[in-house]
Amino acid sequence: MQKQYLFTPGPTPVPPQVLAALAEPVVHHRSPDFQPVYERTLSRLREVCRTERDVLLFAASGTGAFESAVANLVSPGEPHLVVSAGNFGERWAQMTRAYGAAVDHLRYAWGETPDPEDVRARLAEREAKAVWLVQSETSTGVVADVKALATVARAAGALVVVDAVSSLGAVPCETDAWGLDVVVSGSQKALMTPPGLGLAAVSEAARTATGSSPRFYFDWERTRTAQRKLDAPFTPSVSLVAGLDVALGLLLGEGLDAAFERHVRLGRACRAGIKALGLELFSPDEDRSAVVTAVRAPAGVASSEIIKACRDRFGITLADGQGDLKGKIFRIGHIGWFDVFDITTALAALELVLADLGAGLERGAAVTAALEAFEAQPVA
Ligand code: PLP
Repeated sequence: MQKQYLFTPGPTPVPPQVLAALAEPVVHHRSPDFQPVYERTLSRLREVCRTERDVLLFAASGTGAFESAVANLVSPGEPHLVVSAGNFGERWAQMTRAYGAAVDHLRYAWGETPDPEDVRARLAEREAKAVWLVQSETSTGVVADVKALATVARAAGALVVVDAVSSLGAVPCETDAWGLDVVVSGSQKALMTPPGLGLAAVSEAARTATGSSPRFYFDWERTRTAQRKLDAPFTPSVSLVAGLDVALGLLLGEGLDAAFERHVRLGRACRAGIKALGLELFSPDEDRSAVVTAVRAPAGVASSEIIKACRDRFGITLADGQGDLKGKIFRIGHIGWFDVFDITTALAALELVLADLGAGLERGAAVTAALEAFEAQPVA
């Protein structure tokens, strides 16, 4: 028997209260057993998204919610601006192209941080119906300044669509206050629920700007009309919704601002520990990078080797790099149901693995550095 630790940036650990809700008997989705749960979940989602608008819920992974945005907003031949600096931004580009958009792709190298001035310049050259952004680029650990990016996009008259799959509930995402027209996310990250639910918060402007692409399951209007009557258009994942309801209750019980602060501290702790191990960060060494810490493998060692050793020896699952970064970096997620002892567990295991690989390390230094950084004041 080996205890398992899930330290990836999604799926993430699920609290026992949520697991207990998932184990409840299945109820019928059009019965009074489900409707109050559905209503509360939709209302809690609005709170977490910081929006007054409808948050549409789909039985799909985050990419399904992505696709709902593309299928509803894109018409073939229309100009759209996609901003990418990693795997998930590139997914926006692939998907908008697949729906026939005339895509202007502002493409940064993986690991860079999108600059609002570049977006302003691109939109001055070529108008776009919507600007497609990623808040937390999970493949690199970069969290973009979505507020600033949205401001320039709106000034140019474009709709703003944000992938908040790994950021919603971990870092601030002020849907209404920042004027974000569409925010999409999924259940398996900071929302502390298993994979399988996708959501999209949709503004009135986005709702009235829908395009001509064919769509059915992901048609926003169909889901919105039905949700308003608490009558899902298709069979919802009743058990996952019951789990999400409990998870959102836990998150809102902690308080969103307290959760954001916890994530900042977790990010600080992780980065401090990684540096104390003598490793080089790939993700930025800044408070905003509070979702996932990406770390370069030491010279001559493949990150997959470190990941395999952590899993085989200690039951600890870390994430490899994606795309060209596979084998070059590893990623430690610290989103959702995480505390500082999860970070120190990961660091302690890494220390043992690196020592085996011949690194000269001061034993215990990483854990100590992490605990000190976690406590450090203040958090802005
Ligand atoms: N966007 C981001 C930023 C992600 O981290 C992920 C998943 O890792 C996705 C989109 C895709 O979500 P899913 O795998 O749930 O379809």
